[in-house]
Order: sequence, then C-alpha cells, then structure tokens
Amino acid sequence: MSVSYWLDQSNGKVKTYDIAIVGAGIAGFSVAYWLKKEDPNMKIAIIDKGTIGSGATGRNAGFITCGSVEHFNRLCERWGKKTALEMWRFSEVNLALLKEHIIQDDKHLEFDNSGTFSLASTQEEFHELKETMTLMQSMDISVEALEQNAIEKRLGVAEFVGGIKYTQDASIHPVRLLNKMKSLLDVDVIEFAEVYDIETLSTGSVLLKTQSAHIEASVAVLTMNGYSSDLKKYFADKIYPTRGQIMVTEPVPRFMEGPCYANFVLDYFRQLQDGRVLIGGFRQLEKATEVGFSEHTTDVIQSSLYEFLQKHIPVLKNKKVTHRWAGVMGFSFDGQPLIGALPDQPQVYFAGGFTGHGIGLAFHSGKALVDLMYDRVIPDFISAKRI
Ligand SMILES: Cc1cc2nc3c(=O)[nH]c(=O)nc-3n(C[C@H](O)[C@H](O)[C@H](O)COP(=O)(O)OP(=O)(O)OC[C@H]3O[C@@H](n4cnc5c(N)ncnc54)[C@H](O)[C@@H]3O)c2cc1C
Repeated sequence: MSVSYWLDQSNGKVKTYDIAIVGAGIAGFSVAYWLKKEDPNMKIAIIDKGTIGSGATGRNAGFITCGSVEHFNRLCERWGKKTALEMWRFSEVNLALLKEHIIQDDKHLEFDNSGTFSLASTQEEFHELKETMTLMQSMDISVEALEQNAIEKRLGVAEFVGGIKYTQDASIHPVRLLNKMKSLLDVDVIEFAEVYDIETLSTGSVLLKTQSAHIEASVAVLTMNGYSSDLKKYFADKIYPTRGQIMVTEPVPRFMEGPCYANFVLDYFRQLQDGRVLIGGFRQLEKATEVGFSEHTTDVIQSSLYEFLQKHIPVLKNKKVTHRWAGVMGFSFDGQPLIGALPDQPQVYFAGGFTGHGIGLAFHSGKALVDLMYDRVIPDFISAKRI
C-alpha cells in the first residue's frame, strides 16, 4: 500500500508509545500479554488495517492442535526425533499457557479439551498413522488408535478405514478467545489503520505511518503473519500468503465426539457447540491459485467441501450451508514459526509463519518473542537465525 499526499490525513499528528504492534490477531495480543507481564506500565498500541481478528484469527477453524502441519513421523524424518519432540512439547506448552492465563474456566469460550482425531480414508494412510502412533507412544506422547467401527460409532462418519486420537488436543471459539485476551489487557487498539511504512528516526525510535495517524515507538513488533510481505519485502521468501477456505452448515443434533483431520491433515471438520458443522481444507485442489491476499471463496473448493460432507457424514445429507469464507495464512519456508528482528531495523521485531497452526502456536511464540526482546534464549527451530 502507498498513500498519496492528497489522502494523507495524519496532519503531522504523532501518538507516542513504548511498543507499537502491527496486527490485532492472536499473535499481536499474545506479544502484548507477555510484554505486560514484564512491565504492566508499558504503553502499548496494537494497530490493525481492519478490525480485531479480521485476519486469520477471526477466520480459522478453532483447532488447538499439538504438533505441526504434518504427521509426527514426517516431522521426525525432516527434523530428527529430538527436535520433532521439542516442537511437539512447544505446542503442548502453548495449550497449557492458554489454559492457565486466558481460558481458565471461562465457558463462554466454547473450549473443549477432549482431543482431536486424524482419520485415514486409505489403508496406506492408516498404516502411516499407526506408525506415527507407535513412534509417538515411544516418546511418551498420548495418542490412541481407532478401528473403522469405532470411528463410525464415535464420530458419525462413513468411509474412513481407521484413525488415531490425539488425546491432548482442544478446540475453541477463536474470536471469543481473542476478545478475552483483549479484556485482560490495558492497551490501545487502533483499528482501520494500515501501516504502510516504518521509518527509523535519528533518535533510534521508529515511526509507523498510517493514513490517519503516525505512531512513534521505541520498538515495533510485526505480527501480520500471512500479510507480512505486503509491508516488508524481507518476508517475500520467508512467509508466504496462503489461502484457506471454510464452510459451516445449519445445526444438526450432536453426533460427533470431537474435531477431525483427514487426508494427511489437509482437510478438517468439527461440530460446533450449537450443532453446526464446520469443514475446511481442499486447498490442494487449487494449490497454484490458493495464494495471495484475497478473502473470496471459490466454487471448486466450496463444492468439494460440500461433497466431502455428503460422502462422509450421513446426518448432513442435503443440509444447508449457512456460512462460507476464506482467510490468509502465513506459511513459513520450513513450516515452523519465525521469530526475530529485521536485519536492517533491529528495533523492529516479528513473529509469524504459523503455517496454518497459529491457534496452536502463537501464544507460546509471543512469549518466546518477548524472551528474545529481553535477551533470553529461544528455541532454534522458531528463531529467525535459522534463515
Ligand atoms: C481457513 C483457515 C483455517 C485455519 N484453521 C486453524 C486451526 O484450526 N487451528 C490453528 O491453529 N490455526 C488455524 N489457522 C491459522 C490461524 O488462523 C493463524 O495461524 C493465526 O490466526 C495467525 O494469527 P496472527 O495473529 O499471526 O495473524 P492474523 O490473525 O492474520 O493477524 C494479522 C493481522 O495483521 C493485520 N495487518 C496486516 N497487515 C497490516 C498492516 N500493514 N497494517 C496494519 N495491520 C495489518 C491484519 O488485518 C490482521 O488482522 C487457520 C487459518 C485459516 C485461514
């Protein structure tokens, strides 16, 4: 984005903060939360080009999944067992921290910690899932297998050959989670203000420019995830804007025990507390075009989502779809979050690249970013030093 002289309404007005965070999603609020733990008097602004949660945080499926974008055996193959286990534990701590600090016993958040399922529609995937399970159990990660009849009975789904249950996973209402975080924080949230430039001043502070106001801060934090490269070219080969689509049906009586993944974690569905069924995924059908910043849905993916429901969930036969949407995720170059500071502006920190798992990773990542700001050690697998 650029702003013309004619449209610039800032009129030399400068608001001053200790920290300016760009992006009012779960990562932005997580960073603010952990900064306030360091110093409750810190003056923080969270700036967003839209509203709170208008990015991926208000458009996701609400799974709080441990681990990463792929089955655990693949994570071990790629990173080695030791690092893969550290990654798993990192996400477990994310959930534990969310529970302790934000969720507590708040029923309004629709939090359910009774696990998620990964389902296989081919014997080949079921075989891989069982291999994964054996590996995980050998590393003390809680997971259990389900045969076909158990899946049909407990999940009300058809045409899957087997699956496994990740017993520690959870799900939540993501926008209520975000609003709960906001309610716990004394910060200024500046909505409908797109930051189009960040200038380093001679004082060492940074000036964040929006069309309506300029904001000066000692330190800036970029939590724009999928949108990062739109502001800073630095992210162009590090965090890729990647689209995801979802649909939600009219309510039906409760039939499934918990949220499910299918097809190697690419597709996912869950029954919401009001009985509606949410389904997302199928971006693999239009992989070349499911990139960029558009939030429009496409007929190909939406009709595939509906066909999936018709094929696999008998109680949804001919049920109406009430909501369809798309969102922009930030896929990192290696599937793990990226936490660091800009090489040419060291007072500009960033956290992003959650690769479709920000609800499962961002709260702990926000804590890690604050650790970095206070010169404490963070894990190598999330550090931008690995670039
Ligand atoms: C369809 C879909 C399903 C998903 N399902 C899940 C799931 O079930 N579980 C899970 O863990 N994750 C899921 N995700 C991923 C998850 O939503 C994200 O990883 C997470 O929300 C990222 O949070 P964030 O705060 O980093 O980014 P965002 O929530 O995207 O927030 C970034 C914010 O920055 C703002 N912004 C961008 N540029 C500027 C600028 N120049 N100036 C000011 N503001 C700016 C945007 O408006 C936006 O609000 C899903 C994502 C999608 C799209």
